Amino acid sequence: MSFRDLNLKKPLWNALDDLGYHEPTTIQVSGFKVMMSGADTIGIAQTGTGKTLAYLLPCLCMWEFSKEPHPQILIIVPTRELVVQVVSEVELLTKYMNVVVCGVYGGTNMNTQAAKVLQGLDVLVGTPGRILDLASSGSLQLKHVKKVVIDEVDETLSLGFRPQLLNIFDFLPAKRQHMVFSATLSEEVSLFLEDYLITPVRVEAARAGSPIEKIDQLAYRVPNFLSKVTMLRHLIQETPIGSKILIFVSSRALADLLFEEIEANFQDNIGIIHSNKAQNFRFDTVQNFQTGAIRLLVATDLIARGIDVTDVSHVINFDIPESPENYIHRIGRTGRADKNGIAVSFISEKDESALQTIQVLMQHQLMFINVPENIVFTEELLEFEKPKIIIPGKTVKLPQRENRGLSFHEKKAKNKKVNVRYDHKKAMQEKYGKPKRKR
Ligand code: AMP
Repeated sequence: MSFRDLNLKKPLWNALDDLGYHEPTTIQVSGFKVMMSGADTIGIAQTGTGKTLAYLLPCLCMWEFSKEPHPQILIIVPTRELVVQVVSEVELLTKYMNVVVCGVYGGTNMNTQAAKVLQGLDVLVGTPGRILDLASSGSLQLKHVKKVVIDEVDETLSLGFRPQLLNIFDFLPAKRQHMVFSATLSEEVSLFLEDYLITPVRVEAARAGSPIEKIDQLAYRVPNFLSKVTMLRHLIQETPIGSKILIFVSSRALADLLFEEIEANFQDNIGIIHSNKAQNFRFDTVQNFQTGAIRLLVATDLIARGIDVTDVSHVINFDIPESPENYIHRIGRTGRADKNGIAVSFISEKDESALQTIQVLMQHQLMFINVPENIVFTEELLEFEKPKIIIPGKTVKLPQRENRGLSFHEKKAKNKKVNVRYDHKKAMQEKYGKPKRKR
């Protein structure tokens, strides 16, 4: 099967040729007909399956030139990195078309983005908050939108963007086609979609040959943070020169802490990225990782969604994310596009229950490997790892008030709290004597 077998337009075929893409992936084939028929579509696809092109190709195929300066295609994504990534894919695909694409996201000057939107556009890619702000302020007109894509809807909802999505829907025309993509179809996602999609057709990315099968999933039992740092240093030193290693940590604070611990060991070769870092810093870091200027990147889950870096040889899960979807997203960063990848997870006692859930969902067991003998783990715990002393269920009964006895010292008379009501009449009588009555 080649892209020529899909009923695309010539400019799209040419752009695909330039990109060197010849064979469509499973979701690109199965999704194409459904989306071209105009049906609401739910695509179940992980990152790395070619899902972005799966919705971009039919959207761009159905796009018609219009003099209206307002977008016909609206693509909603959860992170700023994903905005940039999708915009870049649209630009590559529309190399031979007269399509104007614009990306908008929070954390940057809204006026600049509003000015860009007002210049006119065909495709808008954005994060929910910023799209809504622009629509509410009147800079963005959404009444000409025909296609609405929500990419990574599971992540968009779990980030709490539900109200913004609903408000955006209010700005859209009633007649519109939805194309919604999600790594998994959780109950939250299904319930949300039930209310807005009209008899949606479900398409799925291939199970066989999906990233999960191309990735060796290994694990080590490592008891605590400092031991994990030791293990990480060892693994990095063991991996061949030229390998690209993405290290996932579940919180920004831990990512910073880990970076501080290992930065000195791998100077100039390591970067960090999370949502508290400035936007330019984030772009530069991903760019450096992409080009190979740095080969190690410490990242949090939110960022995992937006990074499309080729040739990641290893993903290291410094800890296990609570949600199985995030685990799948993390490891999906390696083993992309016909390459094999390695995902290594460090499992402490705390990670155990999340790991069980993930293994059940994937129907796949991680392969545990013995820690090399020359590696010595410490028992030292950092403050955040120390168990909190809570005596469950123990309630101390306070003595009844009257039986408590005196406090340890007697109060001075002036401090004794005696509520004496001030009687003005009596005080006046004491001062001036009894009032004389008129006869
Ligand atoms: P995605 O799943 O959309 O994040 O895509 C993963 C990567 O695969 C991106 O870098 C795409 O540009 C690339 N890709 C998508 N479709 C194809 C295809 N048919 N052939 C080769 N590479 C592709």
